Amino acid sequence: MTAAAPSPQQIIEALRAVKTGPDNRDIVTAGMVGDIREIAAGEIVITLEVDPALGPALEPVRQNVERVAKNLPGLKKVTAILTAHKEGPAPLQPTRPTAMASADVRAALTPYVKNIIVVASGKGGVGKSTISTNLAISLSKNGQKTGLLDADIYGPSIPRMTGIAGQKPTQSDAGKIIPLETYGLKVMSIGLMIDEAAPIIWRGPMIQSALLQLLKDVEWGTAQDSLDVLVIDMPPGTGDAQLTLVQKAAISGAVIVSTPQDIALLDARKGLEMFRKTDIPILGIIENMSLYVCEACGHEAHIFGHGGARKEAEKLDCPFLGEIPLHIDIRENSDSGQPILAKNETGPIADAFDAIAKSVIAQLGKK
Ligand code: ADP
Repeated sequence: MTAAAPSPQQIIEALRAVKTGPDNRDIVTAGMVGDIREIAAGEIVITLEVDPALGPALEPVRQNVERVAKNLPGLKKVTAILTAHKEGPAPLQPTRPTAMASADVRAALTPYVKNIIVVASGKGGVGKSTISTNLAISLSKNGQKTGLLDADIYGPSIPRMTGIAGQKPTQSDAGKIIPLETYGLKVMSIGLMIDEAAPIIWRGPMIQSALLQLLKDVEWGTAQDSLDVLVIDMPPGTGDAQLTLVQKAAISGAVIVSTPQDIALLDARKGLEMFRKTDIPILGIIENMSLYVCEACGHEAHIFGHGGARKEAEKLDCPFLGEIPLHIDIRENSDSGQPILAKNETGPIADAFDAIAKSVIAQLGKK
């Protein structure tokens, strides 16, 4: 498997290794790094803004930038170009959200949402969006007014999974974005705000403002009709987007999704650490793709091992919320825009989600 391309922030951090000038400052602090642009998969162009008079003398710096960036996993080709800077070199604005907003500021972001829960995973492809969607439906079936926000900037799949891809949300008279309504949920996705066909590089400040807009400018509830729970499908991992959400939004708790074979990996633990450090209660771990049930003969097989997440949850001292089997219906339904719970209202999968939803509601009630 090829490594995913690093984020612009990761590239910027790596470029701090390149020094310049008589005082040997790193080129980021010196304000030399201009644009970082992905021109094809694994191919980037970095613009270095320099004093034209120094151009030739900076050729070794330019080469160093190419060498350092090319060493990052996921980058195949790096071209650094020197351009004349417009004004004096200004230091780069810090892009990484660093401060936890106060509880009042966080609450003011979503005044008419009683609880926000985030669904997180250490890596992509473990079923985080599938679980977010079906958990949201299950919460709604349990009497909770529920919203579903797809904040997965790397692969927003909720529009496809809930059959709303291509629809455009409208605006209220007050200028708020009205979320789409489907399967009893209010749904909004970052995928509905961008052109899905055009991959974009998310720079720190863009991510931050897009995510905060999805919370602040979407009419999740009103003074007369507030939302009970907003489920946020987080991007996988623990980068800038996740930090923005945990630091700026009033999150009541986190649900971690993992497959049996991934839970022991560092990635999943890093996620737990992020929530612990920011005092966000972990509502529990869900083991997805747990048991395989053969459709033809009913034979059950634990093809990825079994009980790993439950044991790991015990070790990490956090609740275990339940297991969702690996089942062809889950994949087929979510890929056709009809989540399994919207179709199969009863049966073991519906029961498993129902138990998870009830546990989440009970934990939120105790807050
Ligand atoms: P993530 O959000 O973690 O990237 P997705 O929810 O998009 O993962 O799931 C990845 C793929 O796996 C999708 O095609 C989805 O339908 C499928 N999938 C997820 N959970 C299950 C499951 N329990 N059984 C069968 N297929 C599943």
